[in-house]
Amino acid sequence: MSDLLKNTVANLIRPEILALHAYHVPDASGFLKLDAMENPFQWPESVKNEWAQELIKADINRYPDPQAQCIKEGLRKTLNIKDEFEILLGNGSDEIIQILAMAVAQSGRCIMAPEPSFVMYKMIATFCQLDYVGIPLNADFELDLDDMLESIKVNDPALIFLAQPNNPTGNLFGEDKIRAIIEAANGLVVVDEAYTAFTDADYLNLLNDYDNVVVMRTLSKVGLAGLRMGFLVGKAEWLNEFDKIRLPYNINCLTQISCAFALKHFDVLKDQTERLRKNRSRLTDSLKALPLDKVFDSEANFILVRTQQGQARKIFEALKADNILIKCLDGGHPLLTDCLRITVGTENENDQLLSALQKYL
Ligand SMILES: *Cc1c(COP(=O)(O)O)cnc(C)c1O
Repeated sequence: MSDLLKNTVANLIRPEILALHAYHVPDASGFLKLDAMENPFQWPESVKNEWAQELIKADINRYPDPQAQCIKEGLRKTLNIKDEFEILLGNGSDEIIQILAMAVAQSGRCIMAPEPSFVMYKMIATFCQLDYVGIPLNADFELDLDDMLESIKVNDPALIFLAQPNNPTGNLFGEDKIRAIIEAANGLVVVDEAYTAFTDADYLNLLNDYDNVVVMRTLSKVGLAGLRMGFLVGKAEWLNEFDKIRLPYNINCLTQISCAFALKHFDVLKDQTERLRKNRSRLTDSLKALPLDKVFDSEANFILVRTQQGQARKIFEALKADNILIKCLDGGHPLLTDCLRITVGTENENDQLLSALQKYL
């Protein structure tokens, strides 16, 4: 019986889906969590209470506003998004990536991204039966512009994803290279600014200069990961098409109320991200004093380190035994051999991490 079921499943599900591993999220209960680029700070008690008062008003028996206008207005005000550009909201920017892929998916088309970068670009390409072309970064994780331009010529990608700063490397590729890619591409270039709060770089202005670019952002990394709120900013000609694919009620009413509220109190989140930027520079310096092979400077809320040869998994396991969870990237991509990714935490959390590392190294 169960063999029959297995065969039926194996016959029906596409081979490329059978070959996938589901996105693995480790059980983190009881751990000091430095693995997922979350903001570790809480809201002040008074702000939390005010938020709860807003949530009480939620009409959970009704469908939410399909356009989630309250969030769009909040985003425009808080982030200075000009009226001439449209905003598309997603249940996390993961959903936006999926919408973009579905909109262009057609046999023979591909998604392109530098590698290593955010793993969802490739996974979602596979979900949507698009080919995926990864262009390796160089050994210092700089973007190889010649390789990228050559591959654009050969593969003519429908979508190019550029995460700026890049995850998991934490660096910027430089505006000149980004402009050169946009100018060479026939397809749409998606600048993914998930970590915009942690860098002075800002590519929203590219929308003024080019028709084939859109900018994707998220509220996850500034402290609202649990609400799932990603958004795309760009010209109406593009976003009106993508909006046809968005499921009508993708942003639930609790997220709408909570995000609108959080955007009104954005100064709280802003202060927290400022504090994380300071913690990042202290943590970077402290890590550089340890016997690691390399600590990469970061423009995001995480730091990539390369350990001495063969040490990454052992250090990862040793920290885990001390109840500290970071991300082991070793084995994920050839360029990430011996690499670990550490999310910047509170002052106290970073100290705990450092003393655990000192003990082990
Ligand atoms: C975390 C991350 C995202 C996903 O953000 P969500 O809005 O939480 O889905 C997108 N892009 C990059 C580069 C990320 O690191």
